[in-house]
Amino acid sequence: GDGAHVPVLVIGTGYGGSVTALRLAQAGVDVHMLEMGQAWETPGSDGKIFPNTRTPDYRSYWLRTRTKQPLSNFLGFPIDKDVPRHAGILDAEEFAGILVYQGRGIGGGSLVNGGMAVTPRRENFGAVLPSVDPAEMYDVYYPRANAELGVNHVDQSWWESVDCYQYARVGRKHAQRSGFAFTLVPNVYDMNYMKQEAAGTAPQSAVAGEILYGNNHGKKSLPKTYLARARATGRVQITPLHRVTSVTRAGNRYAVVVEQLDTSGTVTATKTVTADRVFFAAGSVGTSKLLTKLKATGALPNLNSEIGKGWGDNGNVMCGRANHLWDPTGTVQTSIPTAGIDNWAAGGAFAEVAPLPTGIETWASFYLSITKNPNRARFTWNAAANRVDLSWQTAWKQPSIDMAKTIFDKINAKEGTIYRTDLFGTYKIWGDHLTYHPLGGAVLNKATDNHGRLHGYPGLYVMDGALIPGNASVNPFVTITALAERNIERIIAEDL
Ligand code: FAD
Repeated sequence: GDGAHVPVLVIGTGYGGSVTALRLAQAGVDVHMLEMGQAWETPGSDGKIFPNTRTPDYRSYWLRTRTKQPLSNFLGFPIDKDVPRHAGILDAEEFAGILVYQGRGIGGGSLVNGGMAVTPRRENFGAVLPSVDPAEMYDVYYPRANAELGVNHVDQSWWESVDCYQYARVGRKHAQRSGFAFTLVPNVYDMNYMKQEAAGTAPQSAVAGEILYGNNHGKKSLPKTYLARARATGRVQITPLHRVTSVTRAGNRYAVVVEQLDTSGTVTATKTVTADRVFFAAGSVGTSKLLTKLKATGALPNLNSEIGKGWGDNGNVMCGRANHLWDPTGTVQTSIPTAGIDNWAAGGAFAEVAPLPTGIETWASFYLSITKNPNRARFTWNAAANRVDLSWQTAWKQPSIDMAKTIFDKINAKEGTIYRTDLFGTYKIWGDHLTYHPLGGAVLNKATDNHGRLHGYPGLYVMDGALIPGNASVNPFVTITALAERNIERIIAEDL
């Protein structure tokens, strides 16, 4: 409530925030978490908590009156539709040059993501987090993160035969015929549950196409892993529909201003609480926006000049390929990706073979590539517009397109196939307007010390994807989790 004091406040309930809360609670500290999204515990009008990807509704988007689907078109036709403004689960946040997708609710991105749980190759780690000792990450913190997240592998013999992974096997065939390495990647979706769904012995989630707006079964999201264990300590309280707008110094403490929202996004109350320590875990964009504003407006003037810098899109770019009629990708496609084409070393691209769970045969292969795009943007405070801007430009995706083409131009030449032009507009090949993987903005060992302590303010910390300087070489949440495990262990040992 207004005027309350707490020892520790955590802003955001995604990966960084969840690790922070669990480990502090286990160390005997009482933790209060604030989350601007909903709790996602109550079924909607259809009896389900989360809507299907094929039928977006009021639950799907964060405070929008029209859907903003990543694949905006189908067979060339726009598919977005009007929805009531609601504190929905997926935020399509628009900056001038890029659309950034993020999860909103208790569990953050774990509610909406594909669950691909990838540890970077060790030889690539030096470029991901140059100031971190790889030995401690690969010996201790990556294994710890993988265990807590419930990372598991698909049973390959089942994968080889089941209808719902035909799209992935077609992806493998084409990759291998062009000489590319193809790897099965681990996931946090419960693969035994998926077997039951596919066999018709359990309610369907992934196999029915649930993903972008939440999974009703099978996905081991943070509320089932880290946050469940955090709550079980009895020391962690989580308050949804509360958005932090300011943090300032108040003596030896910090004063935190919080807006309470209703489910239509209207502010119903503004409260101030004080905390001895504040952990920023609002995600790369959320944390960077807050810190950029607080430094520029004089609320936290001693933050250093690295705040807002080093932001990247993890090199995300999407594309589809049109297969021949004898290469159908299947009418039933599970929404959980399990495989990728690895051309990182030679071409700078790791391409996830992604589902197109439309329910009909499309003869399309669809890919989300992670590339070595070197471009980095920065967040700045726009006082006139009272908002934080991001300097990313759409043209900065060109290196990503070029790197993805090292894979798909070759496959198309070998297979005698072409790119799909109907998925992102009319005659548009590349999905170069978006990212699922925002990273950076408060980079480790620059805006913070080498363990996430913000320079200039004892007791303020960054614990999320904002620490990673723009590229993780693979899907990022395992690295965000492992880095948070590393940093909180040190903070508990030295600061408490
Ligand atoms: P987040 O998980 O984004 O959590 C931040 C939380 O803070 C959110 O819940 C947000 O609502 C809250 N918040 C923000 N601002 C405030 C505020 N001012 N006050 C209160 N609360 C606030 N990664 C993978 O590794 N594998 C995948 O397969 C994968 N697929 C993806 C698919 C999609 C569609 C998307 C959108 C992302 C995907 N990702 C994937 C990315 C992954 O989900 C993110 O990298 C990860 O969630 C980031 O973790 P985080 O802790 O930095 O922040």
